[in-house]
Amino acid sequence: MSRARLLEAGDRAIAEAAEVLRAGELVAFPTETVYGLGADATSDAAVAALYAAKRRPAHNPLIVHIAGRAALEPLARLDARAERLAERFWPGPLTFVLPRRPTAPVSPLATAGLSTVAVRVPAHPVALALLEAAGQPIVAPSANRSGRVSPTSAEDVALELGDAIALILDAGPCRVGVESTIVDLSEPDRPVLLRPGGVPRAAIEEVLGPLAEAGDGEARPRAPGRLASHYAPSLPVRLDALEVEPDEALLAFGPRVPSGAFATFNLSPAGDTTEAARRLYALLRAADRSGARQIAVMPIPGDGLGEAIRDRLRRAAAPRPSPEMRSNGAD
Ligand code: AMP
Ligand code: MG
Repeated sequence: MSRARLLEAGDRAIAEAAEVLRAGELVAFPTETVYGLGADATSDAAVAALYAAKRRPAHNPLIVHIAGRAALEPLARLDARAERLAERFWPGPLTFVLPRRPTAPVSPLATAGLSTVAVRVPAHPVALALLEAAGQPIVAPSANRSGRVSPTSAEDVALELGDAIALILDAGPCRVGVESTIVDLSEPDRPVLLRPGGVPRAAIEEVLGPLAEAGDGEARPRAPGRLASHYAPSLPVRLDALEVEPDEALLAFGPRVPSGAFATFNLSPAGDTTEAARRLYALLRAADRSGARQIAVMPIPGDGLGEAIRDRLRRAAAPRPSPEMRSNGAD
């Protein structure tokens, strides 16, 4: 396939991208978390094309993106908890898993046949304008091949998927830098944190009280896509490094950095987890390209966005599935 066109995200480009989406094709676009790969959530063919472009396993459901709270009504049943969270955090990097309405205009492929649906309103003017113009709910997982490092710039989308999609909207680097926090509100019991992300756990717990952990004593897995290896660069990753080898690229954090690395990339010299999240994927990519043998990562504190950063790095460091497993396993 020919190379993707990369368009600066002005009004005309957004209008054109909305047309492309309405025609059932794929568009990569910026959100505040990472760049997303968008497809019309109501179209089986468009959603199938998205899974194919990402080589994403079909059992890993997608997040439906909407332009505002009002567009949620036809998709899902929401209770007082969802109302309170939406009021406080939307638009923003928080996704809810809610009971799907049987009449929801969303392809069953997008929800992997589940009776629930994951939904969010992104806080990015280009994403919101595109969703408005498309006039449909849009599924938008990160615009990378399944299991790989997420893109936080249009150039990184082109490197990942430039041969598989027609159009990339460019609005510069993403502000938050890690994916949305996902909270499961589909059961009336205690809400479950399925994935730490751009809204810190403490902020959600201020509204809802304590969140349960995914997998804690559960009969069924609630997040089918939470596989161990994900966000993986090409090089092996070593966590909690206090020293570094001369053939390692060092992903550093904070002012005190061990010397002797092949190359050093500091996520936040000031030791700020918000800054580190914003820079995480770009520096992981830079370290991956540096020519080192391996990437060593300094310990990251768990406060603020640190929990999400640690989650992503743990998966980046997890044993990789073999190539034949990858085709039906990891995302
Ligand atoms: P991604 O689009 O790659 O950011 O991943 C979306 C995440 O949302 C995956 O971990 C999915 O497993 C999770 N997800 C999406 N829909 C649902 C759902 N209905 N129930 C539980 N998890 C979901
Ligand atoms: Mg992803």
